[in-house]
Amino acid sequence: MKKIKKKRKPHVAIGGVPPRNAYDLYTFVAGAALEGGEPFRLDCNCGGVVTIMPPFQDEYVVCARCESTIKMIVIEGDPGYIIGADPDGTPKLLPVQGSKKPHPIELSHSERDTILARVRAQVEKKKVG
Ligand SMILES: [Zn+2]
Repeated sequence: MKKIKKKRKPHVAIGGVPPRNAYDLYTFVAGAALEGGEPFRLDCNCGGVVTIMPPFQDEYVVCARCESTIKMIVIEGDPGYIIGADPDGTPKLLPVQGSKKPHPIELSHSERDTILARVRAQVEKKKVG
């Protein structure tokens, strides 16, 4: 993965600048969506929608509905989803916003099970090795 050095610039205050590294929410965003140049929607946990207009320079957005600061973690390309884990270590699929691919909840049960079974197998292999 290539590291792109970004110059930090001061944020414009939107109802108060959030403290450094303290965000209410974190979400994954497809890098392809930011590079595509077309506006895309980012769903907040509260059901609010933030419209992102590329080129997007900041690293977080603020939900107009609940005023949460949402940090965007950019994932290279458009993977559709990423593998996360519950606190107990159970793997799960996390949606990537701005993706043109189906949302993980739109995958069929068997598709999701296949992906998660593969992840579990990889995790097990790592434990043994
Ligand atoms: Zn919200």
